[in-house]
Amino acid sequence: MTTLQLWQAALGELEILLSKPNFNTWLKETFVISHENERVIVGVPNAFTKTWLEKKYHPLIIKALRNVSQMPIREVIYKIESADIRQKISEHIFIKESAPALKQFAIPQTHQPVESQYTSTNGLNPRYTFSNFIVGKYCELAFAACSAIVSRPGEAYNPLFIYGGVGLGKTHLLQGVGHEILKQFPEKKVLFVTCEKFTNDYIHAIRSGRAKELKDIYRSVDVLIIDDIQFLSSKEGTQEEFFHTFNTLHQTNRQLVIASDRPPKAIPAIESRLLSRLEWGMTADISTPDLETRIAILEEKCKEKKYTLSPESINFIATMVHNNIRELEGALNRVIAYGQLNNMALSIEKIKQILSSLTVQYAKKSITPKQIINIVSEFYNIEVSDIIGECRKRELAVPRQIIMFLMREEIKCSFPMIGQELGGRDHTTAIHAHNKVSRDINEIPKIKQDIDLIRQRIYNI
Ligand code: ADP
Ligand code: MG
Repeated sequence: MTTLQLWQAALGELEILLSKPNFNTWLKETFVISHENERVIVGVPNAFTKTWLEKKYHPLIIKALRNVSQMPIREVIYKIESADIRQKISEHIFIKESAPALKQFAIPQTHQPVESQYTSTNGLNPRYTFSNFIVGKYCELAFAACSAIVSRPGEAYNPLFIYGGVGLGKTHLLQGVGHEILKQFPEKKVLFVTCEKFTNDYIHAIRSGRAKELKDIYRSVDVLIIDDIQFLSSKEGTQEEFFHTFNTLHQTNRQLVIASDRPPKAIPAIESRLLSRLEWGMTADISTPDLETRIAILEEKCKEKKYTLSPESINFIATMVHNNIRELEGALNRVIAYGQLNNMALSIEKIKQILSSLTVQYAKKSITPKQIINIVSEFYNIEVSDIIGECRKRELAVPRQIIMFLMREEIKCSFPMIGQELGGRDHTTAIHAHNKVSRDINEIPKIKQDIDLIRQRIYNI
């Protein structure tokens, strides 16, 4: 096992043991520097993480390393290293050890907060319920639709399709639906799966000649909840299987609840017959939470963690992270961890300091005009060359105007520069586009919705 593999494998173990926010806050940014003479040196991004790992997670880390290593490990040392050093080190180790099997140990990059030790066979995690889900304007429609389903599964909207950017509570909401239905109808068979699990099950079933068994399992449930369905794109065999499962369940009035990071139409390479199924019932979006909701979420999380923060502190944290509730929670965890570790009440100044390394990350990141062009093109499923080209078709004109609007709003490009980036257009075209979209965003709900989703993607690069 190479050094890189060793740390990846240990991270894999730790990821199962820790909650997702904790793992993300403390371990995601770590990397391995060396493994020599029974000593492993782990790189960490800052002093705070170093102290936290030493004081809190050291025994777990040693244990995880010993579990996965074939060689004895006596000592683990944490060393603060900057991100570029991290890059250099991993390249160096990578070249030195050229680890073709690395993938095998890579931590799965799912955004799935379900922790395996809590997951029962129905895939539901007790941590995500309606009772700890804060409903704000940003998710009102989605929540109302979910509530309707809970009281009349299979009858209200079928399927219910929820979409929105990363870290905005889709999984939490879907899990909540599962729990609530079971509460009200304990006899019902509820199954929550990620699209990834569905795909893996399918592949596995085919390989082991047990396709029928799989079909029977999936087609016998009363409520099927599938998360992150966008991963079905391009997987033809799995799409086919899902299509039939969908039909069987739908025809017998069993409930389907589906979540995705984008609306059905924007899922690339999805068969049209499946697309039409996904759009059959109700589609509801989740946008980004406003300040009041972010504050309410932080208050709820403090209550869960039995930690008291002043209203000013909560307010301050809520103003720092806008687009992603998972990151908001990560920031709060960091603050709480610091407070507990040092056993002290935290002033705003201190909180500012604790979160300072994050402010750069959360402040509008240095987004380039090219990234905006790429993200919008991908969102509308069109080629960049068409966007910057001459054609004036409406399918191209609207995305093009949105790009110009976002370049102005998000990264303050000058109008001449915007024109330049879009294939050398005149600056008056950029001014016109900006004016038009500024108007449309208030008048045409679809435009607002699209721009919200695109913004989420921009800030989750
Ligand atoms: P998504 O599936 O959209 O990527 P998640 O459901 O995983 O997002 O949510 C990310 C984190 O934020 C979870 O820990 C979840 O509990 C929390 N969260 C999201 N929305 C809310 C909410 N409205 N109220 C309370 N917690 C929330
Ligand atoms: Mg999710």
